Amino acid sequence: MTGSVGEGAATANQMPRKGSNGGNIWALAGAYGEYRIKVESGSGEQEAIRMKLDSPASYLDSLRGWERRVFIRGERVANTVDHPLVRPALNSVAETYGTGQDPAAEEILFARSHLTGARISRFAHIHHSTEDLVNKVLMLRLMGRRTGTCFQRCVGMDGFNALYSVTWECDQAHGTTYHRRLKDYLGYVQEENLVVDGAMTDVKGDRGLRPGEQADPDIFLRVVEQDSRGITVRGAKAHQTGALNSHEIMVMPTTGMREDEASFAVAFATPAGAPGITFVLGRQPSDTRKLEESPLDVGNPTYGSQEALIIFEDVFVPWERVFLCGEVDQSGKVVERFAAFHRQSYGGCKVGVGDVLIGAARLASEYQGVAKASHVRDKIVEMIHLNETLFACGLACSYHGTATQAGSYMVDVMLANVCKQNVTRFPIEIARLLQDIAGGLVVTMPYQKDFENPELAPQLEKYLKGVAGVPTLNRIKLLKLIENLTAGCGSAAYLTESIHGAGSPQAQRVMIARLADLDEKIELAKRLAHIED
Ligand code: SF4
Ligand code: FE
Repeated sequence: MTGSVGEGAATANQMPRKGSNGGNIWALAGAYGEYRIKVESGSGEQEAIRMKLDSPASYLDSLRGWERRVFIRGERVANTVDHPLVRPALNSVAETYGTGQDPAAEEILFARSHLTGARISRFAHIHHSTEDLVNKVLMLRLMGRRTGTCFQRCVGMDGFNALYSVTWECDQAHGTTYHRRLKDYLGYVQEENLVVDGAMTDVKGDRGLRPGEQADPDIFLRVVEQDSRGITVRGAKAHQTGALNSHEIMVMPTTGMREDEASFAVAFATPAGAPGITFVLGRQPSDTRKLEESPLDVGNPTYGSQEALIIFEDVFVPWERVFLCGEVDQSGKVVERFAAFHRQSYGGCKVGVGDVLIGAARLASEYQGVAKASHVRDKIVEMIHLNETLFACGLACSYHGTATQAGSYMVDVMLANVCKQNVTRFPIEIARLLQDIAGGLVVTMPYQKDFENPELAPQLEKYLKGVAGVPTLNRIKLLKLIENLTAGCGSAAYLTESIHGAGSPQAQRVMIARLADLDEKIELAKRLAHIED
């Protein structure tokens, strides 16, 4: 069966359509372009027809003409693909398709599916070795270098890898069939090369109260109904990276649940266009510059990142897409493993963006005639040291990964948490050093329109010039990029996301405290000091 969904059973998310050969084509409701998943006819299964996503253009086309309930700046938007507030973020995801055309990146960006043996995007791969884990970090650094921002496609990959081992263990403990369902779904995502949003963070309401204690029971996403066909869910997920740019949403619980919180212990996948789902685009610093048709003022006009609030109002999910439902003992494992994988991710993606900041620092020092100043050189060395330390953490937790019972590979959880804890600090310092080197002009530059005004432009050219031989406009372009990365749109991805993405700093400290064997360390000290109790 080609590109199968489950075992071919029709579900509420799938609508039977008539194919040109007269057979039934099971295509997703709100389908993406010409996806055809399975063709049945009188003579049995026929080869499926599909629009393969293997280029940025085919990815962008797959999101066009697709009905979803999306709000941007208070308005319902039908076409998000060509919306100027969304397009740069889409371009970043598209780069994950475009970079795949570079033969030099083949090994990093592609893997062999353990399900089918087919060549697939690593973004849809289940890690099966420490080499896989390392290649993931390399891939994310590469993508960060190319986009200078968050390229959004990693959350689904990390969600798959977390659920892969947990569903296996859940099946052993509870006799469920989640692992088979997840593998079927994964096969579909790999085959169609889809972007999947991994949605974990609930809106949480009163942080002092448990999910079941909130005044409004929907504050944590929960199952409100279930029957023989599937479940109905209600709730909301916040800060959803790449949500508008994803074909699918894979939902996971936000925390470990207790016995009386079974309705919140739910994991599932749904097409992003399923009825009942609403997206609200989040703001970023200086975002409306993208509406001004002044790319110079945006700083990184081609690429961007995107977060959205996703509201689920009575969304139906067929059983074939449910991967956890009420098994409270498994929910904490999903959270810990997803968090560990995503904390590893930051040792790749933020390092790639850090490379851009370091390059910008060096270039600014050259444009402004201070490249030889010893304190400037030393500051750049410090930036490199901090950035490579993050990379070392990303690699360390990968090389120290271990096999799970399901056969997939898991990062070293302690080292992944140390990685992310450093990411909550070092990018801030790297950005501070960049601003130090670049100077105050980073936030006092004139508008693009000033440079376009023939009456004013010659004066700006004269008075904002740096070293001879470098056009003033090049200096301004660079400083606008630095503004983007450290104080504008891009700072949402490089700074705030470094603090709160994959869990806020305290979340890592809780894990570090839990995983450190302090009693064993006490014994080390006592032995050397000849202390006997
Ligand atoms: Fe990927 Fe990094 Fe963005 Fe997370 S923050 S989605 S790991 S690029
Ligand atoms: Fe993130």
